[in-house]
Amino acid sequence: MPAPIRDDMDILDLAVLGAVVDGELRLSPAQAMRLYHEMGIHDLGRWADARARRLHGDRIRTYVIDRNINYTNVCTAKCTFCAFRRDGHEGDAYTLEAQRILSKIAELAEIGGTQILMQGGMNPDLPLAWYLDLLRVIKAEFPDIHVHAFSPPEFIEFVRFFDPPGDTLEAKLRVIMTQMQEAGLDSIPGGGGEIFAPAVRRKIGLGKCDAEEWLTTMRVAHELGMNTSATMMFGHIEGIADRIHHFELIRQWQDRSIADFATDGGGRYKAFIAWPFQRENTPLGRCREWGQDQDPNEPFPGDIVARLDGTGDKSEHPGFGRYVRMAGASEYLRTQALSRLYLDNVYSIGSSWVTMGAHIGQVGLRYGANDMGSVMMEENVVSAAGTTYCLNEPMLCRLIREAGFIPAQRNNEYNLLRVHAFGDAPDLAVTDWSRLRATRLHVEGEDQPEPPVPTVEITLGVKKK
Ligand code: SF4
Repeated sequence: MPAPIRDDMDILDLAVLGAVVDGELRLSPAQAMRLYHEMGIHDLGRWADARARRLHGDRIRTYVIDRNINYTNVCTAKCTFCAFRRDGHEGDAYTLEAQRILSKIAELAEIGGTQILMQGGMNPDLPLAWYLDLLRVIKAEFPDIHVHAFSPPEFIEFVRFFDPPGDTLEAKLRVIMTQMQEAGLDSIPGGGGEIFAPAVRRKIGLGKCDAEEWLTTMRVAHELGMNTSATMMFGHIEGIADRIHHFELIRQWQDRSIADFATDGGGRYKAFIAWPFQRENTPLGRCREWGQDQDPNEPFPGDIVARLDGTGDKSEHPGFGRYVRMAGASEYLRTQALSRLYLDNVYSIGSSWVTMGAHIGQVGLRYGANDMGSVMMEENVVSAAGTTYCLNEPMLCRLIREAGFIPAQRNNEYNLLRVHAFGDAPDLAVTDWSRLRATRLHVEGEDQPEPPVPTVEITLGVKKK
């Protein structure tokens, strides 16, 4: 039974906020707005940290070893924030052969990896049999690797491309998802969440599913017993109210999935992760940054348009969609902390070191996050937009330990596989950190020099004896 919402209570009253931390009250959208605007960032971080400690304890924070596999960059959509997509005729368009995907998974298994995160563009040339054959061969070769694959926008296009039987979108999704589940699909990643509010989504996600379709896809996955994650990409044209509306929809639909399916073994949103928009090489990134030409007191167009119920209309400001308000570290931490307090029915909050860098990712563990995500062997989507951070397991463990926690490897279900409390831990076993430097990410389609060239140096501080 969800905790009650008491919109009449003063959320800046410490007793009220304490009840939120204890899970006895839920934030209302208006209360979340007040926290965002009126509470200092460190206080907000402390409350989010307290909430994370109630849910996850004081000792352990987790990471997973998985590999991002972007099986194709051919895509029918034209999201304005995307530097990854290609039209099928472009010279650097690609679709990976099954054998290539298998060899990537073999490399992952060699370093103790437990799952793949496989997503792609929405490629109209791939038949359903291509996906089913791929899933079957992955499961045949790697039965212990968890396949976390195909985000809601891909599923919505599968419905369009393959036209399965069914009178409703849910029925059609069920047909395709059941076949994929039988072939080896284990869970569904939350890619393509972006911002749910229609005014924003129509501007940035051209040709991509709307919020209702995204959420419906996840609901069908939950019905079929699969867990999913949820995401939000912020720090572009949206207003603050749009972020809170996004949290609200995830919380509402999670309540419904738990109420309708949990007793029958249904799935749910297991994790939420938010990251700021990366602008390099993207059409949206060419928009001017708000504040360069404006009076600092002039409100951002996204805030004028945004509504907590998602009904904002672009016509309310001529500058809407023409300026971006990029999110830096403090904005990122503030938003993540608020997500921890708001999403009381979502188990895990992930820290986005991939976009924010190792040290902000580490600080995120004190701002409501309980999980550092994955070591990164390969990433093609945000790296196309300029982000090339890369960490291996010892570095990730060290970041978690130096944030004050014991690092532990988890699986997709957030079960602990290895708790690194002692001297044989991946980080504690390192004797020479100067030899352990961040290496360049593998990026699909690029010739990689061997051995990989270090391009990002991540300073981890002086190792404690
Ligand atoms: S973000 Fe995804 S759906 Fe949008 S254009 Fe890029 S690859 Fe396609």
